[in-house]
Amino acid sequence: MRHWHWLIEWDTPSLGHIKAVKRVVYSGRSKYQDIMVIETYEYGVALVLDGKTQSTEADEFIYHEALVHPAMILHGAPRKILILGGGEGATLREALKYGSVGKAVMVDIDEEVIRVSREYMEFMSRGAFEDKRVNLVIGDALDYVFNTSEAFDVIIADLSDPIAEGPSYKLYTREFYAKVNNILSPNGVFVTQATSPTNTPETHAVIYNTVRSVFAKTAYYHIFIPSFEALWGFVIASKTLDPRGLNPKDVDETLARHGVKTRFYDSTAHAHMFSVPRNLREFIEGETRISTFDNPVYMPA
Ligand code: SAM
Repeated sequence: MRHWHWLIEWDTPSLGHIKAVKRVVYSGRSKYQDIMVIETYEYGVALVLDGKTQSTEADEFIYHEALVHPAMILHGAPRKILILGGGEGATLREALKYGSVGKAVMVDIDEEVIRVSREYMEFMSRGAFEDKRVNLVIGDALDYVFNTSEAFDVIIADLSDPIAEGPSYKLYTREFYAKVNNILSPNGVFVTQATSPTNTPETHAVIYNTVRSVFAKTAYYHIFIPSFEALWGFVIASKTLDPRGLNPKDVDETLARHGVKTRFYDSTAHAHMFSVPRNLREFIEGETRISTFDNPVYMPA
């Protein structure tokens, strides 16, 4: 079978992936980025921002469960949640599964991503935006974090990759992480998506090293995302709770205590994500650069 329309996606100037496009569901440009919703053959409907796949119908649950649940479980009883970015609403959907959550603030810069996701990809938010516990803020997460006087138990950064001239690179810097640390409650947990340890290993390692320069306890973990054709990285941190000290057995118990149902995440998946091979550990832990406002580290483009 021959396809004539392709999404060609570049990770770096020398590495890319292609997917055949069955149908363009939506295409437009917001104040901040190009937004496309396409239907693919292997992964169903996909959100593509500035030419990069953000999430797909077939495997978004892997990315969103991997991003949200380790931080929620490490805290144990989170009540106030802050989500930075996460326009599709799927990160919000996962966080709201915990009955202990009384308030969830979500701050995304681009109202259009939220509108398009709600209209064409309802399977992402599944009613999360209508939940009474949610306070949706349209604005720059940088401004929100620097100006809020509230404290949060779990802060989840589900932001676009740190691309030069993009809207998010300052949210991967030491100055930003220091503010995040300030607005976490004493047992608070922060987690961020941290690009790919296989496709952009230096960016991933710098994000880890930058978070490590601020927080007392920090860890990285990884999972393969089929539609990204890559191992994907996350960095989790806290002032007091050691993410590496979480016993996988506690994962199943805490999920059950909160009545949280997952498709991907459980104690086995947790142990898998935190078991990083030697070559990656050595590469990541050997990184010495720190991303700052004056000297930010971007994804290679
Ligand atoms: N899953 C994604 C990935 O693979 O990189 C990230 C998900 S999500 C769609 C990225 C969101 O971050 C978008 O909705 C975008 O509008 C938002 N965003 C980017 N920069 C932001 C900023 N400075 N403040 C708030 N939201 C921002």
